[in-house]
Amino acid sequence: MPVHPRLHGQAPRARRPAPDPDRLRHPRRGPGRSVVVRVEHADVVVVGGGAAGLSAALAAVEACAAAGRDDAVVALVSKVYPMRSHTVAAEGGAAGVVPGGEDTLDQHVADTLAGGAGLSHPDAVRYVVERAAGELARLERLGMPWSRTAEGRPAVRRFGGMSRPRTWFAADKTGFHLLHTLFQTTLRERSIRRYDEHVVLDLLLTAEREARGIVGYDQQRGEVVVVLAPAVVLATGGYARAWGTSTNAGIVTGDGLSMALRAGLPLRDLEMVQVHPTCLPGSGLLITEAARGEGGVLVDATGQRYLADYGLGPVTPVGAPEPRRMELGPRDKLSQAFWHAERDGRTVPTRDGGVVHLDLRHLGKAVIDERLPLVSGLARRFAGVDPVHEPVPVRPAAHYTMGGIVTTASGQVLDDAGRPVDGLFAAGECASTGLHGANRLGSNSLVETLVVGREAGLAAAGVAGSRAPAQGTELVDHARDLADTRLAMRGRGTEPPAPLRKELGRVLDADVGIFRDADGLARASATLDDLHARFQDVRVADTADVLNTDWAQVLELGAMLTVARGAVAAAVARTESRGAHQRLDHPQTDDVARHSLVTLDPAGETHVRLVPVEGAGTAIGADIGTDIDTAVGTPGGTAVGTTQGDA
Ligand SMILES: Cc1cc2nc3c(=O)[nH]c(=O)nc-3n(C[C@H](O)[C@H](O)[C@H](O)COP(=O)(O)OP(=O)(O)OC[C@H]3O[C@@H](n4cnc5c(N)ncnc54)[C@H](O)[C@@H]3O)c2cc1C
Repeated sequence: MPVHPRLHGQAPRARRPAPDPDRLRHPRRGPGRSVVVRVEHADVVVVGGGAAGLSAALAAVEACAAAGRDDAVVALVSKVYPMRSHTVAAEGGAAGVVPGGEDTLDQHVADTLAGGAGLSHPDAVRYVVERAAGELARLERLGMPWSRTAEGRPAVRRFGGMSRPRTWFAADKTGFHLLHTLFQTTLRERSIRRYDEHVVLDLLLTAEREARGIVGYDQQRGEVVVVLAPAVVLATGGYARAWGTSTNAGIVTGDGLSMALRAGLPLRDLEMVQVHPTCLPGSGLLITEAARGEGGVLVDATGQRYLADYGLGPVTPVGAPEPRRMELGPRDKLSQAFWHAERDGRTVPTRDGGVVHLDLRHLGKAVIDERLPLVSGLARRFAGVDPVHEPVPVRPAAHYTMGGIVTTASGQVLDDAGRPVDGLFAAGECASTGLHGANRLGSNSLVETLVVGREAGLAAAGVAGSRAPAQGTELVDHARDLADTRLAMRGRGTEPPAPLRKELGRVLDADVGIFRDADGLARASATLDDLHARFQDVRVADTADVLNTDWAQVLELGAMLTVARGAVAAAVARTESRGAHQRLDHPQTDDVARHSLVTLDPAGETHVRLVPVEGAGTAIGADIGTDIDTAVGTPGGTAVGTTQGDA
């Protein structure tokens, strides 16, 4: 029986129009080397094989088929095999109001807005909330094994900041099952052409800022690949791995955000980085909020439930969690409580910093085994404790990035004047849709990847159906230049990247964490300037054409540096405390909530503006506030003229 090549990650199959016969050869900088540029065409390019990207790809295929475009091609590009995307690590679940229960859409909207601390867009919140249960049910039809009640309804659990239990879950391996469900569905779609282990280097936009595809690098073949398409969906995930102590996988490096910045597009609220309160010391591995939703309690070095002393009381009975109190308070408040407890000498010192203890013992082995098997295994393997018999040491770690590429609620990317960028969409953690505001509620992210991913895919297919196939030697020439610049990094430089990477994580942990102040942010800014300067001469020792992970990791480091500099600049500009951004020197919350917008100018300087919060899907609004030149950034222009790398 013939085996479909996509199932084995083999070469993409030919389509209409066939991959260009003229595989362009051009000299790579360096003695006597040359590199192949493969030019291919698609109707839609989706960058990212996580939940948002797979949702977008499936929706695009569906929309093309509904329009009778059965020969459409949806290119799905991922720097890792899709099942290794970070979504696979999600634990606790996805929020959605189960129809017919006590919960209501209005309550889900109200809880999300309360968490967002003034930066959520009410229309965007309602947009996602209204579609949430529908997407969770769609997943079930595709095979998602949601945990169920004895009556056969979807089981839901409490998460922090929720007034009602509404988190659908599959034990504590929700992301694993969710990604499998989406991925296995993509396997049966012949229209999806996979580009696994292809590192996207940049977006291709015209001078008028219309999306025309991407330029990437095929790590398996050692070839530059240009995929031309009239619509592109960015679903590249967040940037929380830039912090030294993080729950995120090594691949969560803000690549898509740095591409957007280089294309002259704004990034919103980059300083809003959620620190999760319960992670394993050292590794940063997440102990999901579901553990507290099931009834786990947090105790200090003396065994006392300390949260009531830091504004999260009154104390609830052990094993009977109540909405928004104690262990089920919002994440930012729990992380802040830890910070205070540590300064008050109430944590247990370890070589990886102070810890408090998450006590699950009263839940009993049966509940822990059924509801929390993953965290139980993590605690045993990485902390050497069995939660059935011992409390688990935990401390905060960087976890989720609320900020990102500015989009409407349905994923249409907006430029710095609030105008739609033709053919460009973003979804998932790389996008700032207006849902999460200044602090995401746990389990609202997975559902956002599904809802916005799908809408972005549908819209992208619509754009593709109304445009001529993307063409143009100018674009290909530009792509070739972009790739050439990046490839020229190989075998050059004197600065080893590892110390730069380590210092980036250290300074973000130290000075851009749970609480910030002007002195710390100035230190972070100066350190990032120094790292930026040293990065210009970064050493890429490996010169191999194939599977050159040394080079790929340097590209990721560049993306992290670029985005981190934007985050620090935005944190400097926001002289107030709101949600995940708490300033010791500015404890007040401004009466008027404003977004920060970071841009790079053609000279590569970083600018920050503070602009008013408006309704979902509207223009960004007029500049009413601070304009800070950080006098740093990426040399290079915008759109087609952008030729430089990160940092
Ligand atoms: C440990 C952990 C647990 C979590 N648990 C929950 C939870 O229970 N509920 C919840 O709602 N949220 C949870 N979250 C958050 C949620 O999992 C993520 O926000 C979400 O999965 C992000 O999905 P995504 O599709 O946007 O990105 P990802 O899953 O990160 O996928 C990004 C994709 O982009 C690709 N990519 C990136 N850069 C490039 C490039 N340059 N070239 C090519 N491809 C590229 C990657 O290969 C990958 O396929 C959790 C997060 C963590 C860290």
